[in-house]
Order: sequence, then C-alpha cells, then structure tokens
Amino acid sequence: MRTRGMVSVMRVLVVEDEPGMARALRRGLVAEGFVVDHRADGPAGLDAARFGDFDAVLLDVMLPGLSGYTVVKTLRAEGIWTPVLMISAKDGEYDQADGLDYGADDYLVKPFSFVVLLARLRALLRRDPAPRPTQLTVGAISLDPASRSVTVEGEPIGLAPREFALLEELLRAHPRVVSKDELVERVWGDDAADPNVVEVYVGYLRRKLGRPHIETVRGAGYRVAP
Ligand code: CA
Repeated sequence: MRTRGMVSVMRVLVVEDEPGMARALRRGLVAEGFVVDHRADGPAGLDAARFGDFDAVLLDVMLPGLSGYTVVKTLRAEGIWTPVLMISAKDGEYDQADGLDYGADDYLVKPFSFVVLLARLRALLRRDPAPRPTQLTVGAISLDPASRSVTVEGEPIGLAPREFALLEELLRAHPRVVSKDELVERVWGDDAADPNVVEVYVGYLRRKLGRPHIETVRGAGYRVAP
C-alpha cells in the first residue's frame, strides 16, 4: 500500500497445500508489492499466524493436519484478529456460513480470478485493525461475535440477524448512549431504514432478553442498562 512520501509494506501469510496455487499466489502478491510468507499445512499455518506479524492471512480450507476452519477458529479463540480470507474449492452455502461463523472475514471459492482476490484482500486491509474482543459481556448479557451466540444469565437466546447486530452495537458502545440515527447507520447501513425501525427492534430485543436490559434515554437514544 503506497501513500505519498512513504511506503508501508503489507505482510500476507498464504496457507495453501497445492504447490501450483501457492506459487501463483505468491508470485501475484509479490508483484503487487506485498511481502509474502507461505505455509503448506494447517499446524504450520496456525503457528505462523499466531507468531508472525501479518496484516492478513489467505487460508485454504482443505489442508493437511488441521482444516482452515479449525485454524481460524483457534486464532479467534486466542484473541488473534488478523483479517482472514478463506479460499476453498467447496462452494456450498453451508461451508461458506461455517467459515464466517468460525471467524473468517471473507470467503472466496476456487477457481477465482487474481484480480478479485486482490480486491477482496485490499478491502480487508482497509478495515479498522482494532482488536475485537472475543466476547462482549454487560451484566447478565453475553454476546460472542465469532459464534454469533447470545446468552442471558447463561441461557442461550435466539436472535434474528438485525436483532443480533443491534445488540452487538449497544454492547460495544456500553456505557455510552447510542442514538437512533447511529444505530440505523450501523445496523441497517445502506438500506436507509426509517429511524423508527430501531424502536421496533429494541422492542423485539426487550421481549427476547426477558428483562428491561435496554434503557431508553429520552431524546438521546438507547443504552444497555448498567
Ligand atoms: Ca487444499
């Protein structure tokens, strides 16, 4: 990534057991100015991702020793949040969901064009590198972003995707009050929802969480009750 007057080198770890694919990835990435390190099996890839100082990991799913799923799951469980782009020959919707559930940031199915891979990789590198906690807990509520699960007093609660996203924003902001506009932007994004939709979803959340865990702060927004 080059900016005026300075050069900052991005380090990418490629974990791929097919020699031809690994070679092509390395050659392409080096040509684009990346520093590339390569490992050919799951355990070696996991170690390199743990201890190497990488800006991103390209991780194959089917690997000798440990699958890519296990590698990314282990990294996230250890609190390592290096962006991971998973690469796989499998293209079932189920596998994709698995990869993302285990904490991968993006997923690409073989065969793919190198141009697409580069675009997705650069998108990951532009993201905020701030570490994300493995678990968000406020009072009795716990939310795990990696496994997308929520518990209240240890009891699992089933939430729809928007409800989950809304709760996640409120927990991340705690103890700050979050305005309706901010919640619309973060949870609904480009869908540009009516700010009143937030009220409706807060209502759903209150019902599912079972107690008035979410406070309305008149004129300001919402917060998780301290
Ligand atoms: Ca493979």
